[in-house]
Amino acid sequence: MNNSLSARDQQVNWHPYTQMQTAPPPIGIVRAEGAVLYAEDGTEYIDAVSSWWVNIHGHAHPHIAERVSQQLRTLEHVIFAGFTHAPAVELSERLLKLLPQNQAKVFYSDNGSTAVEVALKMALQFWHNQGINKTKIIALEGSYHGDTFGAMSVSERSVFTRPFQQYLFDVEFLPVPVPGKEEQTLAQLETLLQQEDIAAFIFEPLVLGTTGMVMYTPEVLSKMMALCRSRGVLVIADEVMTGFGRTGKRFACDYVNEVPDLMCFSKGITGGTMALGVTTCSKTIFDSFLSDDKTKALFHGHSYTANPVACAASLASLDLVEDESFLENLDRISASHSAFAQSLVGLPGIKSCRQTGTILAIEFEVGETTYFHSLRDQLYNLALENGVLLRPLGNIVYVLPPYCITQAQLEKVYDVLEQMRQFVVQAF
Ligand SMILES: *Cc1c(COP(=O)(O)O)cnc(C)c1O
Repeated sequence: MNNSLSARDQQVNWHPYTQMQTAPPPIGIVRAEGAVLYAEDGTEYIDAVSSWWVNIHGHAHPHIAERVSQQLRTLEHVIFAGFTHAPAVELSERLLKLLPQNQAKVFYSDNGSTAVEVALKMALQFWHNQGINKTKIIALEGSYHGDTFGAMSVSERSVFTRPFQQYLFDVEFLPVPVPGKEEQTLAQLETLLQQEDIAAFIFEPLVLGTTGMVMYTPEVLSKMMALCRSRGVLVIADEVMTGFGRTGKRFACDYVNEVPDLMCFSKGITGGTMALGVTTCSKTIFDSFLSDDKTKALFHGHSYTANPVACAASLASLDLVEDESFLENLDRISASHSAFAQSLVGLPGIKSCRQTGTILAIEFEVGETTYFHSLRDQLYNLALENGVLLRPLGNIVYVLPPYCITQAQLEKVYDVLEQMRQFVVQAF
């Protein structure tokens, strides 16, 4: 009998975003360090997607490990209603210092989807508590905000959401203001904002991740935010993917001139160590829940809200985010990506090449394809066979590495992208 992790896993586990009948066996990973994953059969993989975008400082970081183990021996958990603790207090203090000035309060949850649910509930109840009938949300076409029902509702309707369609609430979708389409989107937003019942606008700032790293400029985002705020529509920045350095600055919102009313964080917040979600809001939002009337409170919470160990991991991650080498690494990776992207311009097989900070996305020229096209699996396997973990979104392959990735490791990733290009040129 095969006693590998992979074989035992197949007896008992159900994996995310996976057709379990046809998926190849999962790869058993026994340890990881820096940008490298070590498999049970001895193979090494460069984690060029930061394990679903969470692992920003590299794996098994000693500073985070030390801080977490200390916390485990001090206070592993305590209920967060009626009680508090140092890691949550310190984390909120430090986070708020890094965020746009108007962010005043921190609400903890468990992941990106719940951070979005909380933001939506805060925005809707903000109006409800004042007796104002504003109930509609604006979102961007192609957006992804998570897998819970509220988060699915404000996300692109796709094959992923089809079985649940009738339970998703109505949302006004705006086209992404990609370069060349800015004026069109701004005009549509103006028209939408004439409706009296718009409560909030939620967006992934600068980069829509899951739909294929679709990018737009800080200038048009600033204009959209300004328009919304001038009409009294709340602005929710979902920085779950972009937060903590991904776009080349600490936060994507650091590129814009306007401030959001609410912000969502998860993924990189603990450096990929523990699950943690955070929603922050302005004082105006928070104050609308203050009342002698108990029903105006925010009735939302999770058993593990503000788990001290997760907060400790996040504090350790923030130490690294605030270290000067952090921004140096972002600049190094951005410059490296940018040079590589330049070298691809005009080559056969390349439809487009996009980059924002540490995110590089290459769209291959393959004619008509969909997410489920076999090309995706071929590209995925090609990378694995070369010791690199990349997860193509259809014909779009992106690199989103841990910031500790070395130049040699980056070169290896680029080499795989070049092999993919040659494969595509031959196949199409
Ligand atoms: C991943 C993601 C989410 C959902 O986060 P989970 O932790 O997977 O629930 C929400 N918004 C954005 C922009 C994301 O990239």
